[in-house]
Amino acid sequence: MSLSPSNPATEASRLEALQRLNLLDTPPNVSFDRITRMASRLFGLPLAAVSLTDVDRQWFKSRVGIVQESLPRLKAPCSRIAESGQMVVVNDLQADSFYADSPLAGAGVRFYAGAPLLTNDGYCLGSMCVLGTEPRDVTEAECAALRDMAAMVMAQIELQHALGRIDPASGLPNRTQFVDDFNDLTQDRPAGERRVAGLLNLASPEQLSSALRAMGATWLDEVVGEAVRMLAETIGAGSTVYHVTPTEFAFITAPGTDIDVVCAEMETWLVQRAASVTSRFVTTARIGVAPFTIGVTGSAELLRNLHSAAQHAFDQDRGVSVFSQEQDALYRRSFWLINAFGAALDGAAGADADSQLRLVFQPKVDLVSGACIGAEALLRWTHPEFGDVSPGEFIPIIERTSMVRATTDWVLRCAMRQLAAWRADGLELELAVNVSAVNLLEPDFCTRIVDNLRSHGLPASSLALEITESALMKNPKVAEATMRDLHAAGVHMAIDDFGTGYSSLAYLQSLPAQVVKIDQSFVRGIEGDERKRSLVSAMIKLSHDLGHRVVAEGVETAEVAGVLKGVACDEAQGYWYAKPLAPGAFVDWLAGRSDVANVA
Ligand code: C2E
Ligand code: MG
Ligand code: MG
Repeated sequence: MSLSPSNPATEASRLEALQRLNLLDTPPNVSFDRITRMASRLFGLPLAAVSLTDVDRQWFKSRVGIVQESLPRLKAPCSRIAESGQMVVVNDLQADSFYADSPLAGAGVRFYAGAPLLTNDGYCLGSMCVLGTEPRDVTEAECAALRDMAAMVMAQIELQHALGRIDPASGLPNRTQFVDDFNDLTQDRPAGERRVAGLLNLASPEQLSSALRAMGATWLDEVVGEAVRMLAETIGAGSTVYHVTPTEFAFITAPGTDIDVVCAEMETWLVQRAASVTSRFVTTARIGVAPFTIGVTGSAELLRNLHSAAQHAFDQDRGVSVFSQEQDALYRRSFWLINAFGAALDGAAGADADSQLRLVFQPKVDLVSGACIGAEALLRWTHPEFGDVSPGEFIPIIERTSMVRATTDWVLRCAMRQLAAWRADGLELELAVNVSAVNLLEPDFCTRIVDNLRSHGLPASSLALEITESALMKNPKVAEATMRDLHAAGVHMAIDDFGTGYSSLAYLQSLPAQVVKIDQSFVRGIEGDERKRSLVSAMIKLSHDLGHRVVAEGVETAEVAGVLKGVACDEAQGYWYAKPLAPGAFVDWLAGRSDVANVA
């Protein structure tokens, strides 16, 4: 009997089939052990095993009376079964010319009977075998029983394998199956063929978690079942729907399907679904569509592209979105930003000297007296590899994460530390800090600020908080309540970027803010634009009538400063006076001005 299999190509496919099942070197399993014990008992033999034939070893998925996890494949009867796919019985190994010097015979085994473990497509994975230390005969009935038990082992293997590929909730093939089928597709179809895939996302993570809390997991199963039935009808019998994440379903359309047709069908699908199912009230289904090329796009890349397109549909509040490289680059950039900023914030919390985060300070100047009466603290982030990242880019992204709390806390602590140091040097300034609207929703926000002021020995009136008008509009009730608490504590409040948020004047009147900061877009070019001048003049007048002081942002020239003074603006801030400065440069700037009265 030869050691190497007679047909290497068949042996390679057999090993591949074995590998695909992911059984080798997996932990013991009670279902297999039950069958093995039954075999041992039925034959009245001390040794039994489910033995899988790997490249050079017999590995036991289940064993009774056998100490080793595996034995060499060399001269193992199981190996002959794997090669032939036939049952093997050796009545006495020691009397057998081939097996007499085998490791099994050497270990005292005399009797062997094994039935093949055959897959549906005819590969033999190994054997269900029984062994004895005495020579023995077998009856036909015993052979039949051993074959039955081998079939039971295979049924168990295929069941477990299928379970690993089917989502238990929806009964649909899962992500693993998607990857396998996609790989088969790339083998079967011509390289370079253009195809279209889609991905339905049934709910955003927030919607999923709040709906699960309110309605329980069976509700999700129902929503999924309903959606999948409708989706399968739309894409037709030729395409499979795969359940790739708890709320995502992927599919690949038939060859030659036009991407515009897919998008139109999906739009219709969404409309029909919205008209017929109740879950539309708590979930927002979104669909990503992505073209791909056979032999060029990998399965992981395709799934990522689809996910990115569906995410884009969420962000844009659209039903269907087609994958775009540019959009994906932005999406990846914000993902990078979130991670990198998190690391920067961790480093800054340790207050190490080479922190990536720091504050700069931009003076605010009284337009009547020309004196610097305060400063705005602005956050700066220098990434060690990618350099400066603008707050205009990272703040809106961070504001959508839970890091916003720690970020504002860090800025506030750092700003107060600086302000306390300046006041100790005799500099009487009001320092403005930008806070995010979500901070105003934190129940302890006001208490934290008051505690912080106290621990830095600062009066509340030395701090102003700037909140953008557009942010305030998102959750006016809670934000307003926190602003009232802060106002009552003596902290000044300013409405930033005024004019950009479409808030009504009635609303503005109700806010406990002392200061209104007119957005740069109204200030830029005011000197040569009569209409702009009238608009700003009216904004200032109204704000004054409502009792607010007015600060103009983005003053870049003496001319603009002059116009603003002419329309009774109170304060100005901008490059004409100074760019945002590091603390040392800020003090130098102050010292260099004529209003030296500010400097002790
Ligand atoms: P903002 O609060 O309206 O700040 C004014 C922005 O205008 C700053 O940009 C400032 O550098 C810039 N600026 C000042 N004078 C001029 C000028 O004359 N011309 C021009 N073209 N620009 C001028 P920056 O520092 O890039 O900040 C952008 C925005 O990021 C800020 O707008 C603010 O909304 C946000 N931000 C900055 N730091 C923080 C922070 O610590 N926390 C929060 N939540 N937001 C921050
Ligand atoms: Mg500001
Ligand atoms: Mg602003």
